[in-house]
Amino acid sequence: MTSSAKPIHIVGGGLAGSEAAWQIASAGVRVVLHEMRPVRSTDAHLTDNLAELVCSNSFRSDDAVNNAVGLLHEEMRRAGSLIMRAADAHKLPAGGALAVDRHGFSAAVQQALLAHPLVELRREEVAGLPPADWDSVIVATGPLTSPALAEAIRTLSGEEALAFFDAIAPIVHHESIDLSIAWKQSRYDKGGPAGDGADYLNCPLSKPEYEAFVAALLGGDKTEFKEWEASTPYFNGCQPIEVIAASGPQTLRFGPMKPVGLRDPRTGRRPWAVVQLRQDNALGTLWNIVGFQTKLKHGEQTRLFRTIPGLQGAEFARLGGLHRNTFLNSPRLLDATLRLKAMPRLRFAGQITGCEGYVESAAVGLMTGRFAAAERLGLASAAPPATTAMGALLSHITGGADATTFQPMNVNFGLFPPIEGTLRGKERKQALSARALRDFDRWLAPTPLAAE
Ligand SMILES: Cc1cc2nc3c(=O)[nH]c(=O)nc-3n(C[C@H](O)[C@H](O)[C@H](O)COP(=O)(O)OP(=O)(O)OC[C@H]3O[C@@H](n4cnc5c(N)ncnc54)[C@H](O)[C@@H]3O)c2cc1C
Repeated sequence: MTSSAKPIHIVGGGLAGSEAAWQIASAGVRVVLHEMRPVRSTDAHLTDNLAELVCSNSFRSDDAVNNAVGLLHEEMRRAGSLIMRAADAHKLPAGGALAVDRHGFSAAVQQALLAHPLVELRREEVAGLPPADWDSVIVATGPLTSPALAEAIRTLSGEEALAFFDAIAPIVHHESIDLSIAWKQSRYDKGGPAGDGADYLNCPLSKPEYEAFVAALLGGDKTEFKEWEASTPYFNGCQPIEVIAASGPQTLRFGPMKPVGLRDPRTGRRPWAVVQLRQDNALGTLWNIVGFQTKLKHGEQTRLFRTIPGLQGAEFARLGGLHRNTFLNSPRLLDATLRLKAMPRLRFAGQITGCEGYVESAAVGLMTGRFAAAERLGLASAAPPATTAMGALLSHITGGADATTFQPMNVNFGLFPPIEGTLRGKERKQALSARALRDFDRWLAPTPLAAE
C-alpha cells in the first residue's frame, strides 16, 4: 500500500463522504475525514455514527436488470463500494427493495473506516472555506450542510440560494399495529434480496374511509413556512402526502396508497386503497409508513394517522417533518470531475451536488473519491461512460441538466443515452442495463483504482 505524504481532506462523514474516504484509502492515499457530529448535530441526524440514514431505511430496488437504482447498486458493488458491502451485510426483508438495519449498517461503515490505516477521523465542524493548505478537499456535507460552511460556499459560488425543502415519513412501533386488520404481503407477492413475498404490512381502506382520510388530510393543520422559505420549492420525488392529495381526490390512490397486487385476507378482495408499512430495523420493532412524508403538525399527524384501519392504536417512534436541502447548481458550477470551477481544490460529493437519495449520494461519493485519488497519484481519471448508471448520473449533474431549472435527481433510465432499435418497456430497460454493465466493466478494468 502506498501512502502519499499529503492527505485528501473530506468534509462530512455521511453516505458520500464515507464512500469517498473508502475509495481513496483503498487506492493507497491518506484521508482525513472531518465529521461535525457529535460536536454539532443537524436537524435530522440522531446519532454520531458515520453514514447515518436519516429517514427511510431503504436503498430502493435491488433489481439490476430492470431498474436504474438496482443497476447503480450493482455498479457500486463491482467498484468495491463500502456502502453496498455494509448494506448487503445488514439487509432486511423488503420485497424487491434493499432495506437495511440502519444501526448495523452505519456501525459497519464506521468500523471499516476506523480500522483502515490510511483513514483519520476528526470530529469537528469545518465552519467556513477549508484552510488554503488543504490542497485537495471533498465537500460532502449533504442536504443539511452547517450554515457557516453553506454560506461560505454560497458566497464563493455567487449563487443567491442553495436550499429547498423536503419532507420525511413517520415510523410506528410494531406492537401498536392491529394485526387483526393489517396483513403481511408484498405487492404481487414479490420476493426480493432478503424477503419472502410477504414483507409489507398493509392497512386497508374502504371507499368512504379513503375519502374521509383525504378530506381530513386536506383540512389538516400544516407547519407554516417562514416568510423567506415560502418560495422554496419541493423536490417532486419526496412530496408530502397532503401536497399529493391536493392535486386530485384520486391521486393518492394511484400513488403511495395504491392497492394493486394486494388482497385483504379478511374479504378476499383488493381494498379501495392501502397504507403500507415497511420494516425499519433488524428487530422488526419499527415500521415506517411508506411514502407518507408530511408537513402536518405533530398532533395532527397522530390524530389523522390513527384513523387508518389497523393504526387506531399506533404509537409513533418518529413523526414526519420538514427539512432543508442544500444543493449546488452543479451544471453551472462544477467541472466534469466534480471540482468547483471557481476553486478547483474543492470537489463536491453526495446530495449537495444535486443528486437525490442515499444510493445516488454514495455513488457520487465513490466517483469523487476515485477522481481525487487519481489526481493525487498523478493518474488519468476518466469519468465512467454516460451509458452506465454512474456515468449517466454524473453527466446529468455536471452538464446534462438545464442549469436554469436544476433540481435534485434520482437515477433513472431517462438519464441514459437512448439505445439503437425499437425496443420498448422492459426489453428496453434490460438492454440499457446490459449495455451499462458491459461498459462499466470496461471502465473499471484498466484503472488501478478498481475494486479490492
Ligand atoms: C430529513 C431527511 C430525510 C431524507 N430521507 C431520505 C430517504 O428516505 N431516502 C433517501 O434515499 N434519501 C433521503 N434523504 C436524502 C439523504 O440525506 C441523502 O440522500 C443522503 O443522506 C445524502 O448523503 P450525503 O453524504 O450527501 O449527506 P449526509 O448523509 O447528510 O452526510 C453529510 C454529513 O456531513 C456532516 N456535516 C455537515 N456540515 C458539516 C461541516 N460544516 N463540517 C463537518 N461535517 C459536516 C453531517 O453531520 C453529515 O454527517 C433525506 C434527507 C434528509 C435531510
